[in-house]
Amino acid sequence: MYWEQSVQCGAETDIGLRRQNNEDSHYVHVCSDESEWRRSGHLLMVADGMGGHAVGELASQIAVETVPHVFLKSTETDPCKLLREAITAANAAIYERGTQNVDFLHMGTTCSVLALTSQGAIAGHVGDSRLYRVRRDRIDQLTFDHSLEWELERQHGHLDGFINAHQHRNVITRSLGPEKSVDVDIEGPFPVYPEDTYLLCSDGVSNQISDPELGAILRELPPHQASKLLINLANSRGGPDNSTVVIARVGALPANVVPISPERAFENPLALGWSWLIGYWLTALGGVTGIGMSWMGHDVQGAFLIMVSLIALAGLSIALVRRQKKIRSQMLLDASFTHHSRPHRTAVGLSSKALLELLLKTSGDLQRAAQEDRWGVNWEEYQQTLDLSLKSQREKRYSKGIREIARAISIIMDKLPRNGTIGREKSHPSL
Ligand code: CA
Repeated sequence: MYWEQSVQCGAETDIGLRRQNNEDSHYVHVCSDESEWRRSGHLLMVADGMGGHAVGELASQIAVETVPHVFLKSTETDPCKLLREAITAANAAIYERGTQNVDFLHMGTTCSVLALTSQGAIAGHVGDSRLYRVRRDRIDQLTFDHSLEWELERQHGHLDGFINAHQHRNVITRSLGPEKSVDVDIEGPFPVYPEDTYLLCSDGVSNQISDPELGAILRELPPHQASKLLINLANSRGGPDNSTVVIARVGALPANVVPISPERAFENPLALGWSWLIGYWLTALGGVTGIGMSWMGHDVQGAFLIMVSLIALAGLSIALVRRQKKIRSQMLLDASFTHHSRPHRTAVGLSSKALLELLLKTSGDLQRAAQEDRWGVNWEEYQQTLDLSLKSQREKRYSKGIREIARAISIIMDKLPRNGTIGREKSHPSL
């Protein structure tokens, strides 16, 4: 991406309707000057803590403090290595704190980070929070869920026979904090196109709202409105967990900026550096000089030089084979070499018409629940907004209708009493 492209952000977090604490944390940093952006990049993250009482909160809080601190201060110049360094440092900091107090033992957190850099979008990820990218009608999940369900499916290609896999969808297989070391997934760099929209969210959101719904909401609404609507929807569907969203939309490229080259691809660890090429070049030079000397009559010196060059060539080749073999085995052993650079899942967002119909239905259900339980909503304001939305629907101006109905839903949800239930839905958590 380019420095000249604007980044519009939205972020919201909410305790939900069933939890005593909000164990989620988030962070948004959009660089204010170009040199800082070139050194590191815009940084956004979500962390979902676990461990009970205030422990999960502490773990996710340490993550959102440590990752930016390292990412924005380190001297490492490769953004992929920089992101890995920052997340590894957060793991160490949480683990360290865990060992200091018996109540904090085994505390952990998920950690999903998006860096928008000059080389493209890079994801750093541990756990089951998610990073999505919305591009036009399509929504792609760029991170792999480190959950029992996903790991079983990856290992076996299916979930047949694992009857508990869906029930244990929230069991995560990797997190920051409980262990001294952690494997960090680094994905990307992904090329960034104008109008791409990124969503980081905790499972309190992704468990309640489907990918096609997420895709349509992110496409239709500006980031701050989309953030609010996602939280409202998660709560309107029972709010069983804390929910957190961070959204970033990348602006268009200004007309005076000419794109120079495609974004740099991920550096291949097997590629040979200059030192190898110089080594081979010197060996070849020695051999050619030896041949030249023999031809000019300096037989002994020439033969000696040719022999030394051949030995050097053999030595270099053996060292090269060993190097490649070692790197390959490291890549196999070390799960942290995960530069998949492709979406793990992809879906098409709902059509604007379908999204508007869905939101109108949600709004109607909420209206009934709020009137039954007397939430103290300003009904006049709500009705005016709802009427505008219905008018837009009749005129087939669906995007406008979606913005209006999102506002109407907010008018109701802002008055939601935090007593753990909505209306008479006690038996069916989805409205
Ligand atoms: Ca959660």
